[in-house]
Amino acid sequence: MSTSNAGVTIWRCANCRAGFFPEPLLCPRCHGDRFETDTVTEATVEEVSVIRHMLGQENWQPRRIASVRTSDGQRITVGLRDEVVPGAVIELVQEEQAPFGRAKIG
Ligand SMILES: [Zn+2]
Repeated sequence: MSTSNAGVTIWRCANCRAGFFPEPLLCPRCHGDRFETDTVTEATVEEVSVIRHMLGQENWQPRRIASVRTSDGQRITVGLRDEVVPGAVIELVQEEQAPFGRAKIG
């Protein structure tokens, strides 16, 4: 069984609280260099794409990925577990270091 944790880690500037993904070297807003980790659990799907081929992978199964905008404003690319369409709100989970999205229930 793989480990799955609710939410995806983002980095928040310790000075101005702006959130980023991935961790930047300097905060583009205030040039602060200290960041604290935070977790976002919800995002809106902006674009869905399918990776049909991967170089060097013989038994590649097509995978769906999405460009999403988190509730905190970061744009993140996540793997998809469910059939979701642009505009859908998804739940973010982290599985073995990789961010995934799944349809929100309710
Ligand atoms: Zn900042």
